Parts: sequence; C-alpha cells; structure tokens
Amino acid sequence: MATQITAGTSELRDITKMERIGAHSHVRGLGLDDRLEPRENSQGMVGQGKARKAAGMILRMVQEGRIAGRAILFAGPPSTGKTAIALGMAQTLGQDVPFTMIAASEVFSLSMSKTEALTQAIRRSIGVRIREETEIIEGEVVEIQIDRSLTGATKTGKLTIKTTDMETIYDLGTKMIDALSKEKVLAGDVIIIDKTSGKVSKLGRSFTRSRDYDAMGADTKFVQCPEGEIQKRKEVVHTVSLHEIDVINSRTQGFLALFAGDTGEIKPELREQINTKVAEWREEGKAEIIPGVLFIDEVHMLDIECFSFLNRALENELSPLVIMASNRGMSRIRGTNVRSPHGLPVDLLDRVLIVSTRPYSEEEIQQIIQIRCEEEDVTLTSDSLNVLTSMASSTTLRYALNLISCAQMISRKRKAEQVSVEDLRRAYTYFMDEKRSVQWLKEQQGSLVFEEISVSTTAEN
Ligand code: ATP
Repeated sequence: MATQITAGTSELRDITKMERIGAHSHVRGLGLDDRLEPRENSQGMVGQGKARKAAGMILRMVQEGRIAGRAILFAGPPSTGKTAIALGMAQTLGQDVPFTMIAASEVFSLSMSKTEALTQAIRRSIGVRIREETEIIEGEVVEIQIDRSLTGATKTGKLTIKTTDMETIYDLGTKMIDALSKEKVLAGDVIIIDKTSGKVSKLGRSFTRSRDYDAMGADTKFVQCPEGEIQKRKEVVHTVSLHEIDVINSRTQGFLALFAGDTGEIKPELREQINTKVAEWREEGKAEIIPGVLFIDEVHMLDIECFSFLNRALENELSPLVIMASNRGMSRIRGTNVRSPHGLPVDLLDRVLIVSTRPYSEEEIQQIIQIRCEEEDVTLTSDSLNVLTSMASSTTLRYALNLISCAQMISRKRKAEQVSVEDLRRAYTYFMDEKRSVQWLKEQQGSLVFEEISVSTTAEN
C-alpha cells in the first residue's frame, strides 16, 4: 500500500486526451455558433442540427459545472452520427477536461471484473487540476515588489535565498517587506502574506490589528506595508485523471503501466486513500476537481449488473457526465429476460436525458461524403460523387464512406488523379455491404460452418 500519495505530475504531463484518428478524424467540434445554433456545415459536421444543439447545451452545462453526475443517451439508427457528435463534444471541451471513450463490450473483454473496468473508466473521466509551485533554489535571488498603489511609488528589493525551506523564506520575505516599507508606509497599511500560496495582498487601513489578526488564524502573516508579491513563486498547473493518480500510486503497477495500458485491478483501499488525499489538496487550495465526460458506445451491450453499478456511481460526488449511445430499439436487457427501450433498464432511463438522431437526407449524405474525401485526400468526379451518394442511400452511409479509400486504390492502379464511377463500381463488387452479405449467406445455405442455433437461445433482442 502506498503511504505517500503523489499526483505524479513530474513523470506525467497532461495525458488525459486520447488521440482520435480514423473514421471520425474530420470531426473538429460541434459546428455551433456562439448562441449554440448549428451551422450548416462547420467543423466537419453536417445536419443533425437538433442533436448537435442539444449536445452544445449539455457541454455548456458541463463547463459551468452544473451537470456532473448526470447521464445522456444518444439514441438513433446506425450511422446517424451518435459517435461523431460525442467526439465533437470532446473536441469542444477544453484540453484539460478529460474525455474517455469506451465501447460497452470492452467491459467484458478486459482481464478484470466488469465493475473494476467501469470504475477505471469513470476515474479516467475525472480530472484533478493540480497547482504546483516552482521550487526556489538555494542561492537564488527572489524579488519582492512593493506596489504603493495609494501613493504611486513602487519599491523593489532583492533577497538572496540561502535555504529551500519555505517557512524560512516567508519569514525572510516578511522581514524584507518590513524593512523596505519602513520609511514610506503609513501607519495602518496592512498586507497579508498567505503561507500556502505566497501571495501578498493588501487589506486596507481600517484594520484593527489585535482583533482581526486573531480572527485570521495561524496560516496568515501580516506586515505593515502595501501590496506586493514574492515574484519567484510562480504557479504551474497540470491536469491528471484520478485513474492516473491511482496507477502511479499502485505499488504493483507503477506509472509505466499507464503507457503499457495494462493497469490491472486497483485496490479499493488505495482509491480511498487517494480520494482522501485529493480532498485534502482541495481544502488546501492545491487542487480542483474537473468532472469530465465518459462516453459509452453501444451501451446496450452492458448487462444488468453494470447498469445498476452505473446507476449508483452516478450518485457519487465524484462522478463525470456519462454519455451513452445506442442504436437499439426495444431490446432485451443483457442478463435478464426483460425487454426495455434501447436495452436499458427503466430506472436508468428515467434519469437520462435522451437525445435522438435521425437518418440523413441525401444532400446531407453528399456533404458528409465530400468532407470525408477532403479528409482522406481523395478526389471524386462529380458523377462518382452522385453515384456514391445514391449507394449510401441504398446501403449505409458507413459502407459508402468505407468505399472511398478502396475506390481510390483502384483509381491509383490506373494512375488516375480522380476516382471514377467505374472505380466505385469495381470497389462495390469487391466489398459487400450488409444487405448483399445477408443475401449471399442465404444463397450459401448449408455450406458455412456453425449456421443454425434454435431461435429461443439466440434471441438477444
Ligand atoms: P452506430 O449506431 O452504428 O454506432 P453512429 O450513429 O455512432 O452509428 P457514426 O459512427 O457517428 O454513427 O457515423 C458514421 C460515419 O459518418 C462516421 O465516419 C462519422 O464521422 C460520419 N458522420 C456521421 N454523422 C455526421 C455528421 N453529422 N457530420 C459529419 N460526419 C458525420
């Protein structure tokens, strides 16, 4: 058990953001204006205006710290941008607001219990913004400036530090401010040096020494002069996630496990210690909690135990905003024989805000295809753009987007600069979409291995 809890920020700098490449790399935000109205085609996003606006409203609430512990569900048919919108939200959040994305099925495939996997995902989504002060090195010159804002006169003094002990530095600094200000300071000018932050501020003249000093407590020092600051003490701010702090302090893992990705299970006692330590840092003004976002894709793949765990976790004080996505209608809740909307238990559904996504119009599909072509550096002839758009309508948007790079390979073979209709046609014959695949399976009946199981055991939905 680690006895000395550390935030580990010297080994670890801001690795709270995941790299997102691939199918959604064109998404750079939600494409909303200042009033949260969706722009037609902006930041890689097209259409789905209502859902984007709803996502923007949620983000605003997150940024105002008003929505931690809530849950959102994006529900809609496949390829309607649920994941794209969630990633757009991630892009819009500031760099140090953690965003974690998991597919619900991952919870079952890791070498740890389901609840541990969910706990880690939740703790990855809670940031701790830690303020560290730069160290003052022995022999270094510390400048102390006294700004006489009342009279306009400024005095600067330099102090050579012979110690790294902060207590001594404060004492020396205090004496120095005293010395510098002796001749000029008017009786009654009072400044405060806060021992924790090193900040020196002015309190004003109407300060009755004995009475008010007693009320301020032991952490405050007073000298008689106007405002100033011990300037060398600069603040450095880092954000790490609670999970990173867990891993760094776990004896069995160590911070290198973060890079290997295999963090294993973390003992609950260690988490408790860390929560207590973080609470202490918060009280001391050294740390601030940043509730981030946990995105759970294909959420219907979670089972009833996970759902009840999530339901409880959402009530915790340290809970991120949980965004879920599902393309299921009425489906069976895994681990039960009960059917429910989107495969989610009703008590969880009851606490989520549901945002629906709808299929795209042909025009929107065409714009999305164009955006992806730009992203993948592919040029389609205008005919092939139309053909690919109608392919997307008769198959799926995702299939059509996948064909872009396949058709480009074919066009490159014939050294063409642009993808032609013929290139698309050939790509279409090489790669089946879902409908054709089902048709093909029907035609192949009996010749594939492991075909038929009785309907009652397969009925997932
Ligand atoms: P599923 O239910 O199958 O997981 P989904 O609703 O999450 O689907 P996405 O994966 O977000 O759908 O969308 C499919 C593809 O279309 C992705 O490459 C995505 O980036 C792109 N896309 C979807 N909607 C938009 C949009 N409004 N603007 C730009 N690109 C989009």
